[in-house]
Amino acid sequence: MNDVPAPAYRGRFAPSPTGALHFGSLVAAVGSWLRARSCGGSWIIRIEDLDPPREIAGAAREQIATLAAFGLVSDEPILWQHQRHEAYAAALQQLIDAGHAFPCWCSRSDLQASAGLHHSPCVAAKAADRAPAWRLRVPDLTMGFDDVLLGRYEQALATEVGDFVVRRVEGYYAYQLAVVVDDAAQGISEVVRGADLLDSTPRQILLQQRLGLTTPAYLHLPLALDAAGRKLSKQDSALAIAAADPLPALRMALGFLGLPVSRLGHAGSPDALLAAAVEAFDVAAVPHTASIVQMRHGTA
Ligand code: GLU
Repeated sequence: MNDVPAPAYRGRFAPSPTGALHFGSLVAAVGSWLRARSCGGSWIIRIEDLDPPREIAGAAREQIATLAAFGLVSDEPILWQHQRHEAYAAALQQLIDAGHAFPCWCSRSDLQASAGLHHSPCVAAKAADRAPAWRLRVPDLTMGFDDVLLGRYEQALATEVGDFVVRRVEGYYAYQLAVVVDDAAQGISEVVRGADLLDSTPRQILLQQRLGLTTPAYLHLPLALDAAGRKLSKQDSALAIAAADPLPALRMALGFLGLPVSRLGHAGSPDALLAAAVEAFDVAAVPHTASIVQMRHGTA
């Protein structure tokens, strides 16, 4: 008999404010929301504003407003990564103290001979006049996990990734470190996001192990591609989703996630459509592979 209650499901959507949300972002937002709600759990927005040079002023506020127009509102106060530097510094210090992270002065050209991957020891010597990047030492092992949708995924960390950056030369904390610290701090039980991040997950699991953190479940959603077969990008504003007319794009996103949109009824608002979609959502019906979306400006 197991009388310990299962921990509550906690999911999240974590956009970087590098531009307006596009159809692919909407798929990740709606997919993570549906999964959280169909598991009776909560859904939290986190703004991953870690990389000021790539951010666009006002983009985060616009993303939050767009999500709200689609009926997607965070159940808890939104976490902003620019306010979390102390937590990332503490995690980095923990890695340094345990000998897992090391300072690195190697330049891109220093790593050319190893196809851009870093393998300890460093090629470049310490330079007293320049700040180093900090890297996580990667062991020679294959890291695998069972994706809820896609099944087993494995990566040979040393040969496919190498020692990776956790704090950049410019002083910014790397996405890989921040996402692991915050998923743990927020008690995220399952990460639902686009399949473009599938190959980041083994690195994140290694970081969790090095920091003594629990590994959440992972579910990677199919990617939406443009007519040329490329992943949609926030930098391409023509593919932004329109907050003023959310229903067409929301229906398209639900269809993309395998929902029987024509059977969801004629909901007159995003909230009503999402409520019908939660009832019909079946993770087993979500497609496993990327597909091309026909964009019409304003709908997706
Ligand atoms: N901030 C990342 C992005 O916008 C997503 C991070 C994640 O979901 O783990 O691509």
